[in-house]
Amino acid sequence: MVIGAGLGGLLTAAGLAREGVDVHVLERLPRVGGRFANLPYMGYTLSTGALHMVPHGATGPLGMLLRRLGVPTEMVYEDPPALLRLEDGTHIPFVDFAKRLSTVNRVKLGILSLLAMLRPPSQRTFREWFYPRIRDDYLLRVSDSFCGWALSLGCDEVSAAEMVAVLQNIRRFGMPALVRGGCGAIIDGLVEVIEEEGGRVSKGVEVKEILVEDGRVVGCASPDGTHNADIVVSNAGPTHTLSMLSCAVPQWYAKQVERCTPSSGIKLSFASREPLLGHHAIVFTPYAKRVCGVVEVSHADPSLAPEGMHLLMSHQRVLSSDVRSEIRLGVQDVRQMFPHARPRLLMAQSYSDGWPVNRCRSGLDVSPFTPFDGLYLVGDGVKGRGGIEVDGIAMGVEQVLSHVLKT
Ligand code: FAD
Repeated sequence: MVIGAGLGGLLTAAGLAREGVDVHVLERLPRVGGRFANLPYMGYTLSTGALHMVPHGATGPLGMLLRRLGVPTEMVYEDPPALLRLEDGTHIPFVDFAKRLSTVNRVKLGILSLLAMLRPPSQRTFREWFYPRIRDDYLLRVSDSFCGWALSLGCDEVSAAEMVAVLQNIRRFGMPALVRGGCGAIIDGLVEVIEEEGGRVSKGVEVKEILVEDGRVVGCASPDGTHNADIVVSNAGPTHTLSMLSCAVPQWYAKQVERCTPSSGIKLSFASREPLLGHHAIVFTPYAKRVCGVVEVSHADPSLAPEGMHLLMSHQRVLSSDVRSEIRLGVQDVRQMFPHARPRLLMAQSYSDGWPVNRCRSGLDVSPFTPFDGLYLVGDGVKGRGGIEVDGIAMGVEQVLSHVLKT
């Protein structure tokens, strides 16, 4: 039994179904995909969450898992994959960011990076780690826009150890790519695999309780009845999963889950008649008021916009409780970037609390294994170490798949 048909739940269900396990996915909404689904709007393919991007493209944990599951996915790369928008509005390749530091600071950064690889920094935040040694406003802005884009956090909100792991994963797994057909293409492929293997995906069924007897999970209950199962995988997030348990939870475990707090964000989708960028590299925007970066997704896949039109998405962290004003500042940022094109705002989407960018801020994820036999967690509260978004989800899913299939 899999609770939730988000990417985490569907990946796990498809992985188990391919190995001959009888799976049934219960999804409370009338549609599948959670925050990784296409959202058709006025001829554009917007999304319920993600910007149609996979952080490490075809060679990352998600790409490799999809290939193993036989889900055909086309990832569209750009060269260079990312740019940096400087204060004067010009762009440089992101990999060249250090060239703009003074020679002394470049040497310091090199030494710090080397030391981090030998011994990962502990406890302190990413900012606390580098800023006292390299007091450079430009580096601080670049770090904030990168952390804001990739993790929806400031560089003072993520631990140095987690950021070092993130950067090592980029080196190990590769660069981001856009998914042809949008994130919905991956979701459709996963549902197809589950159904092809005889599994079921039921929509509009909300699980209210996870049934546990003598420390072992025995199924779950929804308004339409009890569903017996010897394994329950929850994609509903650690906090919500705990609240559904029919038994008491050990205090040490409740404390662990309590640490898992979400990260918020705002996504803006813009339409334009002319291409705004003319490529689909991520443009990091360290000098914008709010927006951390933008990407012209329709350049990778023109079918994401009506013929002759273009679709650009931006992402920003939320810096105050006034969401309307945060959105206004984000819109101003994008309009200032393209003063002549006057991009039209199609949709502003804000993400927090129960529908956040990440259920657990990167570095605070909990383990996929719970104190209850047969109960596992997947999704963005259970990302692997240094795992960015959906690639982090795939890392957690791999752990659950290998454990369940072994036992
Ligand atoms: P979800 O997608 O939330 O799925 C959980 C599912 O469980 C939901 O469908 C929910 O309805 C269901 N559910 C919950 N409770 C119950 C219950 N009791 N019974 C039955 N069903 C239940 N990641 C990237 O890799 N690339 C990007 O470009 C990217 N951009 C992003 C931009 C934004 C603005 C946001 C918000 C996120 C972005 N992400 C991106 C992150 C990515 O979208 C999420 O990490 C991912 O979609 C989360 O998947 P999930 O399976 O963990 O959770």
